[in-house]
Amino acid sequence: MDKEKISHEELEEKTYKLKAIADPTRIQILYLLRDGEQCVCKIYESLEKPQSTISNHLNILKKARLLNWRKEGTWIYYKLKNDSILNLIDNLNEKESLANNIYYNEIESEIKVDTLVNSISEEVKIVSKENFDNCSNLKYEEESPISSCCGGNRDDYSKVKNPKISTKTMSYEMLNEFKSIATNLGAVEFGYTKLSDDLILENGKLDVTLKNAIVFTMELDEDIIKTEAGEIAKNLSDDFYLKFSKLSYKLSDVLREKGYKTEVITPNGDLVDLSMLGEDADIGYRGKSGLLISPKMGTKFKVAAILTEIENLPFSNKHSYSWIREYCELCNKCIKECPEGALVKNGNNVEFLKDKCIGCSDGCTICIDQCSFYNKDYNNLKAKFDIINEF
Ligand code: SF4
Ligand code: SF4
Repeated sequence: MDKEKISHEELEEKTYKLKAIADPTRIQILYLLRDGEQCVCKIYESLEKPQSTISNHLNILKKARLLNWRKEGTWIYYKLKNDSILNLIDNLNEKESLANNIYYNEIESEIKVDTLVNSISEEVKIVSKENFDNCSNLKYEEESPISSCCGGNRDDYSKVKNPKISTKTMSYEMLNEFKSIATNLGAVEFGYTKLSDDLILENGKLDVTLKNAIVFTMELDEDIIKTEAGEIAKNLSDDFYLKFSKLSYKLSDVLREKGYKTEVITPNGDLVDLSMLGEDADIGYRGKSGLLISPKMGTKFKVAAILTEIENLPFSNKHSYSWIREYCELCNKCIKECPEGALVKNGNNVEFLKDKCIGCSDGCTICIDQCSFYNKDYNNLKAKFDIINEF
């Protein structure tokens, strides 16, 4: 095919399809359908995963127009729309097995986290974000229990205990090694700040004792944002929070192995105000929606943190992105678009009515994707804002 003639829409469509297959469970489903149509009951039986999880995956494949389906009685039958997708996956085998061999072997033989730190080698560098999905399935296989906060749980997934005597300094090289590991496992941005007491929420009053914070972010999956609020969106969102929580505990283990005492602040956001912590760490600035907005990812991410006693982290003492709030004064879109009236203008401030918000209960992401910073070029917005401000 002449590359020049591929339209933007076609490219978008292909990208969407590739993203839809980029998941081990979804690839398993596609392989299950290799020999023809299957009842959803057979798919449930073969994959031995919760039905809600499999339904989510099927839904993603359906939305990417990779599957046909029909209803018969109470059951739904699925088949591949076109089995050329399996040829594509088959042809990826060589690369997949390279990454899988390296990473699965590490997981299965329970090589200590220390190995990761000491050998930030080619092996670790090969581990991609996608492979971390496999890692989380294999190593931390518990399911998310249901509770009221986003992501549903506050379980401790630590594999390494806190050291009795804590190391209080970290070299520049070691911090960079840590960031490399974190990046390879799916973290995107990093910042450092001292946690002030006023950011500790009611639930965190007894749990949070360490004060030097390593703050990091993880990109939200497009699927979560594109799925309308409801059960499927909630399940996708819960899966994301669980994945990010496990990443946070894994990184905390990396530090504990090196002699650092840690406490994990998971992205569920019920212990510490993570948007404010991210703002203090200068990762971004809070918009009127209360979400942290960063130059790199707009609103498409969540925040977590590891608290430590490390005294020489490069703590931020500035707010480089405070103009974002000035931009918000001209915008107010999140307030207008919130379907539940959970964001209420109150003079120059915005009151967030937690009881009305269906972000956690139904996976609503409207204030994320309706924000002017969602999927936009930050520098472009800033330039336009500066021009408006000149007049
Ligand atoms: S998540 Fe939905 S309900 Fe909650 S504030 Fe945002 S738009 Fe409103
Ligand atoms: S939608 Fe507008 S007002 Fe709301 S956070 Fe985004 S930029 Fe600010």
